Amino acid sequence: MESAPPDDVFRDHAGVQKQKQEGYFYVGASVLRGRLTPEQMHSAADLAQRYGSGELRTTVMQNLLIVNVPQANTELLVKELDAIGLKVAGSPFWRGAIACSGSEFCKLALTETKSYARWLVQELDDRFPGFDQHLKLHVTGCPNSCGQHWIADIASKARRLRSTAKCMMLTTSAWAALWGSINPSRAQSAIAAWPQKFRERFRAYCSST
Ligand code: SF4
Repeated sequence: MESAPPDDVFRDHAGVQKQKQEGYFYVGASVLRGRLTPEQMHSAADLAQRYGSGELRTTVMQNLLIVNVPQANTELLVKELDAIGLKVAGSPFWRGAIACSGSEFCKLALTETKSYARWLVQELDDRFPGFDQHLKLHVTGCPNSCGQHWIADIASKARRLRSTAKCMMLTTSAWAALWGSINPSRAQSAIAAWPQKFRERFRAYCSST
């Protein structure tokens, strides 16, 4: 017998979620590629004190949780988080993007990662408004792979090209377990075709397990 795909395709902590404690919720805000400004950090701490118990937590998806929020406070908290650029209801590309430190702070890096990840999210948001599937979009700045590209649905890993001795960000191995890798020169067209194919294969995969 075929089992139906899950109702909620998102398997992260973003959004307003019930806690085990009756009447309390945690609110998960998506931090785009894990980069917070000092102003956002101060504001998030202030919001946690005003609307929750003063506690903040981080997730492996580089996002931020404010916990122990009474139900009556959730709506206002969501608005205030959105106002400081920490989207509670970000797009699938926004909420699924993570990036390693890259050349800005890592001496092993072959390339910059954070700005690239922001560009990639913007590009996908512009091209595919309304895309509604959970996905992992990981960017890693060298083969050490702190960005864990191997578990992503769309992954970018920097490699050194011997022929030119240049360090380049190559959009590769984009499709994780469901896809196999692609030639970087075909990345643009592959990205264009990707969401529909991902949706079909993901749904088929869920129905078969
Ligand atoms: S993957 Fe490479 S560039 Fe990125 S943080 Fe790790 S060592 Fe640095």
